[in-house]
Amino acid sequence: MQATDATLERSKLNRNLRGKSAIVTGSTSGIGLGIARALTEAGVNVMFNGFGSSSDFDRLRKALEDDNRIKTAFSGADMSKESEIADMIEEARTAFGHIDILVNNAGIQHVEAIETFPVSKWNAIIAIDLSAAFHTIRAVVPEMKARGWGRIINIASAHALVASPYKSAYVAAKHGILGLTKTVALEVAEYGITANAVCPGYVLTPLVEKQIPETAKARMLTEAQVVRDVLLHAQPTRKFVTTEELGDLAVFLCQDGAKSITGAALPVEGGWTAR
Ligand code: NAD
Repeated sequence: MQATDATLERSKLNRNLRGKSAIVTGSTSGIGLGIARALTEAGVNVMFNGFGSSSDFDRLRKALEDDNRIKTAFSGADMSKESEIADMIEEARTAFGHIDILVNNAGIQHVEAIETFPVSKWNAIIAIDLSAAFHTIRAVVPEMKARGWGRIINIASAHALVASPYKSAYVAAKHGILGLTKTVALEVAEYGITANAVCPGYVLTPLVEKQIPETAKARMLTEAQVVRDVLLHAQPTRKFVTTEELGDLAVFLCQDGAKSITGAALPVEGGWTAR
């Protein structure tokens, strides 16, 4: 069947997110950077956030602005600090006028047995991987409701669905963010707002590179054994997930075609949780 000009035009419009504005927390690296880049390529203005900003990072942001004819901004707000989160949201509003898309991605990990798990690490993981999303969501929902459109994408993990040993705080935070996602989805469902949890398997980012030696110590394995027998063993595809795949999914979730997907846990983990 031949597509008519009208249907072609509609599908182009659906894919075009130009004029929308997003905040992507933890977007100086890894998955957050991949999602922020994909959103800019779809025409979205993006507030970047995270640690370790550099002149290389500033050049990358400028190139994304020029190539995609969008605006970007940057906030170094610490996601463990409620007042800095509030400041970041205000800065995004000042830069773009409104916030349509919120991607809660900033996260940290620590791998250690429960009996020696440092209390400070527990507190930091719960604050950054879980409570930060509560603070960002409660700040943006009123304006999303008023505008009748919004997308909340929480980067959870396969560890929102299943556990692994030595990751007590991370698994607790990620199960928690899935519960938060479902609850918010129900509260905002009638306002044109969706809230979903993306559940990636292993992606070879600095977060995973750091846990390879920690896991080797906790499980008394070599680092090569950790990659083969722990990380890739979890994923039937035996391949790391990529940041580009997660960027594509985030862009899809922002399109009209995804408007009935809400309150979902979306696994992107090479079949890990199908077992
Ligand atoms: P990463 O270490 O590459 O990036 C983490 C980002 O968060 C960085 O930009 C960092 O600066 C930022 N960040 C850390 N602490 C922060 C804080 N207090 N305030 C503000 N920003 C902070 O890690 P990643 O692998 O890209 O992880 C991103 C998210 O994806 C995390 O929530 C993580 O749990 C989740 N995830 C990762 C994997 C994986 O295999 N890499 C798998 C599933 C889920």
